[in-house]
Amino acid sequence: MIAGIDIGGTKIAVGMVNDAGDVLARRECPTDAPQGYAHALENVRRMLHATAQEVSTRITGIGIGSTGPVLPLTGEFGDVTFFPNWKGENLVRDLSESFQVSVALENDGDAAALGEASWGAGRHKKRLIYVTIGTGIGTGLIIDGHLYRGVDYSHPEIGHQLVDPAGPPCVCGFSGCWESVAAGPAMTAWMNEQAPDDYPHGRNLSAKRICELSVAGDELAIRAVQREGHYLGLGLANLVTMFCPDAIVLGGSVMKSAALFLGRIRQVISRSCSLVPFEKTEITLASLGENANLIGAARVWYHRFQNDGA
Ligand SMILES: [Zn+2]
Repeated sequence: MIAGIDIGGTKIAVGMVNDAGDVLARRECPTDAPQGYAHALENVRRMLHATAQEVSTRITGIGIGSTGPVLPLTGEFGDVTFFPNWKGENLVRDLSESFQVSVALENDGDAAALGEASWGAGRHKKRLIYVTIGTGIGTGLIIDGHLYRGVDYSHPEIGHQLVDPAGPPCVCGFSGCWESVAAGPAMTAWMNEQAPDDYPHGRNLSAKRICELSVAGDELAIRAVQREGHYLGLGLANLVTMFCPDAIVLGGSVMKSAALFLGRIRQVISRSCSLVPFEKTEITLASLGENANLIGAARVWYHRFQNDGA
């Protein structure tokens, strides 16, 4: 039984994942970063014991997916925006000492990509790109079952590719990177900018609410959705042109409204990718649902220690 740990900016989830990719027991708690790393480590240990006990099993390995940057080969946290005070702490070392099992860590985009590639919508795809669109845009690139890594084992930040130089500035240094124009908060920001003072639905609407209003026929929300589809399409078209993957798997909270965007996305791709066989790249939705990150975290262990690729 492999334990998966998903570490995000707001919460940490832990689960027991069997060898078919099913989550048999699950706990979560707030990340509570200001309380410090030791506090979070204690919470993780407690949740691991509780979930293992719930299904009467012994943990045989632990996989971790974390918001980055992280150092996958040493197991350390890097300069993570959400918990800068954890930098240099080593969850891989600490958990392998506590539980006496092998432990592996990856960026959460890479973890979810491994999950979808093995147990989800990306099964049997040789070249797969996973893209999650929520409060940010995370990605993972898998070739023949193996994670693509950059120099010094770095994780490519495809969510920060430039798609509109006139767009807003981002922490990465670009103005108008994909995340800054197409993640959920970009929809909110655009609506705030465009809505007249007497706009009846208020300010700071979530991406989900904007999608609902668009379905209900609100003109401004419809434009916001079209704009979102356009920018999602531009970023994805770049991926199709550069990598010609077998499939791009889309997940994340914004993609819960995928039906509103897919038409526009496909239109942008077919208009922009004429030099590659774009029609052979399957654009599909993630299939592992709410537990995708947790299941992916468990898959991190298989990828590292069984190197099975499948
Ligand atoms: Zn950026």
